[in-house]
Amino acid sequence: MIPERVEETPDLQGAHPRLSEAQIAALAALGHGRATHPGEILFRQGQRDCDFFVVLAGNVAVVDGYGTPEERVIGVHGRGRFLGELSLLTGEASFYTAMAADAGEVLAVPVDRLRELIAGDPAFGDLVLRAYLLRRSILIGLGAGLRIVGSRYSPDARRLREFAARNRLPFRWLDLEADPAAEALLRQVGVTPDETPIVIAHGRLLRNPSNAELAGAVGLPAPRTRHTGSDLVVVGAGPAGLSAGVYGASEGMRTVILDSTAAGGQAGTSSRIENYLGFPSGISGAELAERAVLQARKFGATFAVPARATAITRDDRNYTIGLGDGTSVTVGSVVIATGASYRRLDVPRLEFFEQMSVYYAASQAEALLWRGDPVAIVGGGNSAGQATVFLSGHAARVTLIVREPDLGVCMSRYLIDQVERLGNVQVLLRTEVRELLGDQALEAVAVDDRTGARGIVEARALFVFIGATACTGWLGGLVDLDDHGFVRTGETARSADADGGDNGWQRSVLEASQPGIFAVGDVRSGSAKRVAAAVGEGAMAIRLAFERARAT
Ligand SMILES: Cc1cc2nc3c(=O)[nH]c(=O)nc-3n(C[C@H](O)[C@H](O)[C@H](O)COP(=O)(O)OP(=O)(O)OC[C@H]3O[C@@H](n4cnc5c(N)ncnc54)[C@H](O)[C@@H]3O)c2cc1C
Repeated sequence: MIPERVEETPDLQGAHPRLSEAQIAALAALGHGRATHPGEILFRQGQRDCDFFVVLAGNVAVVDGYGTPEERVIGVHGRGRFLGELSLLTGEASFYTAMAADAGEVLAVPVDRLRELIAGDPAFGDLVLRAYLLRRSILIGLGAGLRIVGSRYSPDARRLREFAARNRLPFRWLDLEADPAAEALLRQVGVTPDETPIVIAHGRLLRNPSNAELAGAVGLPAPRTRHTGSDLVVVGAGPAGLSAGVYGASEGMRTVILDSTAAGGQAGTSSRIENYLGFPSGISGAELAERAVLQARKFGATFAVPARATAITRDDRNYTIGLGDGTSVTVGSVVIATGASYRRLDVPRLEFFEQMSVYYAASQAEALLWRGDPVAIVGGGNSAGQATVFLSGHAARVTLIVREPDLGVCMSRYLIDQVERLGNVQVLLRTEVRELLGDQALEAVAVDDRTGARGIVEARALFVFIGATACTGWLGGLVDLDDHGFVRTGETARSADADGGDNGWQRSVLEASQPGIFAVGDVRSGSAKRVAAAVGEGAMAIRLAFERARAT
């Protein structure tokens, strides 16, 4: 479909900048120009390793769902504009098709040459990275790219939505209960409602795929059978692991970063981090993670997602980390950055409601799903406060249920001020959740106040932020843990050697009870449980890993 009216898409906040003549000349030296004809496809949705295209004459249309009944033009770009989005740099398959709208000319630059230019020209690099990050957000907002179809009550549909959202994959969610387009799409691909959820990924029909299958279909970096020749493995790609990855790779270590779910960790689920240095108006955890992933890749780090570490063993000076898919990685230095995971409520029928109405993060996906409905949030810390502020902009009403007598016990002052200013938020202090009510789905939450009096809070979704437990089960006793399961480091770590002694080595401050294993961020015993602290520890662990490698 060639657009009838060719009108260039406005440049929103730097998402579609125009290159200067000098920048085009620099790119021309790295690629080649060629004429285009109307309707010519420059690259297709699902294609990997596309060239970087600059429009020299005429216009190029960006098309979502090319060749399907849902085909739509989502952008038009003329002279001096460049094509592509984040997937061009991350190696994912393209989320849209680019088609010449009229006769013109483009400059095609191989992506490796583009990377060289980005690394050598910081102003140009900044322009492209900023545009690509913004374009990914625009694609997510437009619901372009993948299609996920299923029932809002299906646990697998929810798993797929969460995996896509956590990995910042653009998708449109078609809800069988609410969206007539869902049934139309199912008829079109010959699938019955009881065979859902399905994902349409770049023209391929995936029936209830596993997260790894979906990752493979979109080109997320999969774990390889053997990561040979690596110096450093970082387990966990939250802020601590990403920081270790950036510093490790930038110092020349061959670095592999593994994550069981998505880069970003807990911070990736935060709608706005307002106290991270250098971002006075705050930054979403997802954007922070996206930037860090690009930065780590720029220095040569390799990612594997989803890749869950399930075991670790020691053989002389090396450690072998076993992964969930049966593969393994062997290295001399390991950074444990597996953080912590949410704590669950102790109430009857929790598992049942967890399948469709209970959440442990409040991202854009959940906010849109429960737009206009009453929701409840449990917890008195900053994560609960952030979720309250964020969800109040979408939900009809938010009830914040807090066990403490005062919000100030665990929440930062700036968040309390924001919560107190919101008109559609009710705060229940000294109150605890006792029961979840509803037959097919959540309808209300039964709560008790400090006198034991029962109250009913209407809620279609419940968001739980009541603390976290360390993700250390996979360590299997190789390193010393504290009474709560967090990794002990430095002087507090007791050696697990058979003789109970330390064999003469001096443990550094972030080093666990085995030489060459470091623990950083929330997983570390006594850590600050803050993004900045996690990032600082990740960076510091690299220096200590170098020192350990030199000493052995
Ligand atoms: C909603 C919310 C809002 C927050 N807001 C703020 C804020 O405003 N300011 C602030 O400073 N802090 C905030 N925090 C706290 C902050 O996010 C954490 O301190 C920080 O994310 C810790 O980073 P980390 O890398 O140590 O661990 P995590 O962020 O927990 O990352 C650990 C990573 O390891 C992965 N992983 C776990 N087990 C395995 C395994 N076996 N194999 C492979 N990978 C594994 C996980 O998938 C995860 O990606 C917030 C937390 C939440 C939940």
